[in-house]
Amino acid sequence: MKKILVLEDEPNIRSFVVINLRRSGYQPIEAETGMQALNQLEENPDICLALLDVMLEGGIDGFEVCRRIRASGSKIGIIMLTAKNQEIDKVTGLMTGADDYVTKPFSPAELTARIDALVRRLGDDAEKNSFEITSGPFVLNTRNRTLEKDCKRLKLTQIEYQLMKLFMENPGKAMSRDDILKAVWGENFSGELKTVDVNIRRLRIKIESDPTDPEYLTTVWGFGYKWGY
Ligand code: CA
Repeated sequence: MKKILVLEDEPNIRSFVVINLRRSGYQPIEAETGMQALNQLEENPDICLALLDVMLEGGIDGFEVCRRIRASGSKIGIIMLTAKNQEIDKVTGLMTGADDYVTKPFSPAELTARIDALVRRLGDDAEKNSFEITSGPFVLNTRNRTLEKDCKRLKLTQIEYQLMKLFMENPGKAMSRDDILKAVWGENFSGELKTVDVNIRRLRIKIESDPTDPEYLTTVWGFGYKWGY
C-alpha cells in the first residue's frame, strides 16, 4: 500500500482526509505540525506523496515543509491544501516545488482524483528513469536498446550496445579485457582478448569526437578500459 503523508492541523479535516485515503487503498501517515511532518518523512522514507496544509499553527507552515522536502532532493509528490481565499498561496505553492494544489473545501472524489493522477504520473517518471542510464552527453535506453549522444541517435551493433551498457553501468571502474569479454560475450566464449580491442576501436569511432584521443572510453594501459574522464 502506498504511504501518503497528511499534514493538516484541523482534526476534522485530517480525519476526513485519512478516512478517504484508506477507502481509496492508501496508507495515510498523519501529522499535525510541520515539525511532525518532517519527522514522519524521515521515519517513513517510502512515503510517495505528501498532502500539505498551507496554514498551520507554529513555526513551520506547509510551504516551508514543501521547501525542505525539495531541498533534501526528494522527488515525492506534493499537493498543497489551500483555503479558498488564498489565491496567492497557490502560486507560491507551485513555486516552492509543489506538484498540485486542492482548494478547501474539497470533496473526497476531487482529492482522490488529484492523488491518483499524481501517483500515476510519478510512477511513469520512475519507470522512465529506471530504463535510462545517463552519463555526460550520453543516454542509453535499456528498453529499446538505443544510445543517444547530445540527443542524436547513434547506430550500434548489439555487441557495441552491450559494451556501452557495461561501461555506463560502471562509470570510473577500470575493467580488464578478460572481464569485458566475459561480461559481453559470455563465460564460454573462446575468442581472443583482441576481440575486445577491435570492438572498442569501432565503438570509439561512433561515440568519440576524436577516436584517437578518446574522452569517454579511455584506455587503462596494460590492463583494459574504463568509462570516464
Ligand atoms: Ca490549517
